[in-house]
Amino acid sequence: MDIANDASTQANAQMGRVWLVGAGPGPADLITLRGATALGQADVVVYDALVDPALYRDLAAELIDVGKRPGQHAMAQHDIHALLVRLAGAGKRVVRLKGGDPFVFGRGGEEAEALAAAGIPCEVVPGVTAAIAAPAWAGIPVTHRDAADAFFVVSAHPRGPDVDLTLPDWQPRLTLVILMGVRTVARWQQALRRRGWPDATPIALVEAAGWPHGRRIDADLATVEAVARAHDLQSPAVAVIGAVGARATCRRLPSS
Ligand code: SAH
Repeated sequence: MDIANDASTQANAQMGRVWLVGAGPGPADLITLRGATALGQADVVVYDALVDPALYRDLAAELIDVGKRPGQHAMAQHDIHALLVRLAGAGKRVVRLKGGDPFVFGRGGEEAEALAAAGIPCEVVPGVTAAIAAPAWAGIPVTHRDAADAFFVVSAHPRGPDVDLTLPDWQPRLTLVILMGVRTVARWQQALRRRGWPDATPIALVEAAGWPHGRRIDADLATVEAVARAHDLQSPAVAVIGAVGARATCRRLPSS
């Protein structure tokens, strides 16, 4: 081994690193094997609110909660960046554990940029995103040769343009999945009507997918606001909009 390699090996050993790990959409066993391995090797786990505590509570690692809790704010994003940089800079192996996939509406992209800017080595471990897994849990395939050639995933809380501008125009063979839309059902309902989506379009509201209290509530575009209100729809939930929601589905096993 030459001197330059040796020096860089030593620098890496002192530096620490961050794994941006997707925890999956719900119960602990929906994490990937690679994510579980990273957790087992972590010195510190920095986790969000939607992550199943079973994933971290028995680890020897230091645990840091940066998620929103009742009566308490989430840690500001720039403070999370500073925390990750400080921990890895001090030589720790840090797992940043995020719900679903870290790069789907999880601000994982911002965290990766902050780490890159600080020169901290960082690896992304993809996760099973709720955008696909919540429909699947309810028995809904986001694509189907007889019903949908594409799916479109959108946040009802866009930072850029208003949700009216983010939503796509109606296409007969498109599945639309809306995340973070529980409090704005009336708004996206109106916006979709303006964009030409027919009132009879099937909509499945899938709440707390994967959990024992999870439920699927069926509506259509004309009724979705009233149905969501009547059932007291709660976060986290996705809306699955399009013909795939009306197809036959497999039932969940009684034990799951
Ligand atoms: N990175 C995450 C998404 C973060 S945004 C992912 O890839 O899954 C949070 C939103 O995800 C929630 O508002 C909700 O729309 C959706 N979500 C997360 N977990 C869910 C679950 N178990 N059931 C239904 N929707 C869920």
